[in-house]
Amino acid sequence: MKLLKVFCMMTIMFTATSSLAQDKPDSLDLQHINNVSQSQDLQPIDKSQDLQYSDNTNDLHKGNNVRRSKDLQLVNNSQPSQDLQAINNSWKPDKLDLRRAFPNNTNPPERLSPVKTLQPLSSIEGVIRRVKLSDDMKFIALTFDMCELDTTTTGCDMDVINFLKEREIPASLFMGGKWMRTHSRRVKQIMSEYKLFEIANHNWSHGNCALLTEDGLKAQILWTQAEYELLREELNDENIPEMITLFRLPYGRNSQKSLKIIADLGLRIIQWDIAAESGADNTKPGRAKRSAKIVVSMTKPGSILLFHANNVPKGTANLLREVVNELEAKGYKFVKVSELLTMGEVETVKDGYFSRPGDNYMLDKKFGIDGTGRRTRFTGKP
Ligand SMILES: [Zn+2]
Repeated sequence: MKLLKVFCMMTIMFTATSSLAQDKPDSLDLQHINNVSQSQDLQPIDKSQDLQYSDNTNDLHKGNNVRRSKDLQLVNNSQPSQDLQAINNSWKPDKLDLRRAFPNNTNPPERLSPVKTLQPLSSIEGVIRRVKLSDDMKFIALTFDMCELDTTTTGCDMDVINFLKEREIPASLFMGGKWMRTHSRRVKQIMSEYKLFEIANHNWSHGNCALLTEDGLKAQILWTQAEYELLREELNDENIPEMITLFRLPYGRNSQKSLKIIADLGLRIIQWDIAAESGADNTKPGRAKRSAKIVVSMTKPGSILLFHANNVPKGTANLLREVVNELEAKGYKFVKVSELLTMGEVETVKDGYFSRPGDNYMLDKKFGIDGTGRRTRFTGKP
């Protein structure tokens, strides 16, 4: 039997077959978590990181105040300020985008609740997988998860973001609040491109909504809303959307109770009908093309495609390029999820999953007590 690895966010890989291209879409099966990836993400931060910072590596451990608007000082204190400016303005990847380029910071955000909050939804909608569109409405949404556990930092895949920006392809980016803080310089860049990119909530530190306590879940969501608000305030541009309105379940996991809590916080839940990354190494020649053919064969009008733009899956930019080119050749157009939602009736389920109902239950035991990588419960109490 062929195996397939699939990613959920930064840490989760589902098994990849040796000949992905031969797999029929419906044979996609969640087999097991990739042990390498898992152990890397769950381990406490390793002091011997790939990147060394000159003097102030430890500053981030002291608290949040040190971090804000001082991202670039981390690069290297001896670097000329013009260079830092150039790095800051460029959309090209640099060394600060790598995994673990920034030390891990387990503190809560500076503000535990957003100043502005959403109205509760009038009903519990369920988990949105896709939008029902007629065959001639060739619109789909590309979505990207950008997230990290409480125990590590995962980087930002600027090859992906830069590609989207250069090709002017709209996308919806589901960001963890902690990830936003770690990669705040990139988030602010992305925020300033609000016409192209839509930012959505993917919990603070990837808490599993089926396992978190009510207080824990509320904190995971509200801390993220608050972090978004804080970064938006730094930009001081009223054109940037005031609040995040969409949410994605880490691991695709939820309980019926969590659906109610999330609806009460005013957020709609967006999953996907196609998990695009398969766990394959798409940096390998030929692999991205073969993976893309499978993704495209599954895509239909109204599809929501899941990718990642943290630096965990390998070669996502290659895969994305192939997928985009093939879909464009077939006449597809890309829209943000929020736009897709306005085009037709949503298709929902009561329980989130990757490719088949139940294919994510096994993840409950893999990432700490409630999905954040911690060995102790995430309570939302600082
Ligand atoms: Zn994720």
